[in-house]
Amino acid sequence: NVPNEPLPIRRLQESLINRIAAGEIIHRPASALKELLENCLDAGSTSIRVTVKDGGMKLLQIQDNGCGIRKADLPILAERFTTSKLSTFSDLSRITTYGFRGEALASISHVAHLSVVTKTKTETCAWKAYYLDGALVEGKPGQTPDPKPCAGNDGTTIIIEDLFYNTPTRLSALRSTSEEYSRILDVLTKYAVHNPKVSFVCKKAGSPSPDLSTPSSSEIPQAIRLLYGHSIAKDLLHVAFSSKKKAENEDEDMEEDSGPQDSGSWAAEAHFTNANYQSKKMIFLLFINHRLVESSRMKRALEAVYSGVLPKGASPFIYLSLQINPRDVDVNVHPTKKEVHFLNEDGITDQISDTLQRSLASQSNSRVFEYQT
Ligand code: ADP
Ligand code: MG
Repeated sequence: NVPNEPLPIRRLQESLINRIAAGEIIHRPASALKELLENCLDAGSTSIRVTVKDGGMKLLQIQDNGCGIRKADLPILAERFTTSKLSTFSDLSRITTYGFRGEALASISHVAHLSVVTKTKTETCAWKAYYLDGALVEGKPGQTPDPKPCAGNDGTTIIIEDLFYNTPTRLSALRSTSEEYSRILDVLTKYAVHNPKVSFVCKKAGSPSPDLSTPSSSEIPQAIRLLYGHSIAKDLLHVAFSSKKKAENEDEDMEEDSGPQDSGSWAAEAHFTNANYQSKKMIFLLFINHRLVESSRMKRALEAVYSGVLPKGASPFIYLSLQINPRDVDVNVHPTKKEVHFLNEDGITDQISDTLQRSLASQSNSRVFEYQT
């Protein structure tokens, strides 16, 4: 029944606004984990250990050996829009860290119980702090909300308990703890392939053996072998290619690993199975500027390439890492940053498809291409 008198417009309660906003960023345990993982990598960690209880709904704990958080920053850590990574609007166009909006920890504190143990190199002890709805709270009744000194290693441990305890519809939408756990393992597996120099461990709380464990100084093909198995690893092709905009005076020294410098230039690296490997479902790992993203356009284009190579119903494994000048990428289109737009998407997609196609046709093992655009 549509009212014919307009209803009064009222201001939503602050806590309700925050809970709604948090639900847009934190969909499920795996999306919380992705945010936390990116924070660990932003902090320069070389070891990341994840502990999970009940698919991450009861407990999601992530321990790193990164730079830690300064004690002085703890009071505002879980406030919305507090970040150490972005200060001006123009910073957005050269963002190289995963985070930049300062929303992850704030969001989590609105839909879960959040606590943090952290220690920087210069601090003599670690500090533990509890958060609720963006602010420091007491850990136990009768205590003050101030961070408490405790024992701990250099780095940060983030502990999330009772995820979605205050949003029952979200909680009931999650399917099962095993489904959520496998999504957590999937995110970790993909980041572990992309970061072979970082050691990842994931286990269920109370379980003696980890479900995922990688060494700290590997290479991508070894990581793929360890995490996806020998049948994929033995049939892998590799290409690395780049496209440079012709510049008037190129600085040769700058090219190496500093990433694409000019607008319009990009670089890509791919490890992908040859025609001997066939899987029922496509495994596609896409990283754009080191962020795990999805692109149905890129996926369709690559499926089309393989449709000429594999029998009907068979699918490949593809790892693709794309580096695009940060100025050409708009990471700010979606709160989860899962969807990314970039300049010349069609052109880049075409060139990548072409390159994979040619490499598959010749079945050559490793190639380096360079395009001039
Ligand atoms: P963002 O990553 O967008 O800055 P977050 O809410 O994810 O926002 O984190 C807020 C801030 O907390 C970060 O900018 C960073 O300074 C600090 N931080 C979060 N996690 C870690 C971590 N694991 N190690 C060190 N600092 C961290
Ligand atoms: Mg972050």
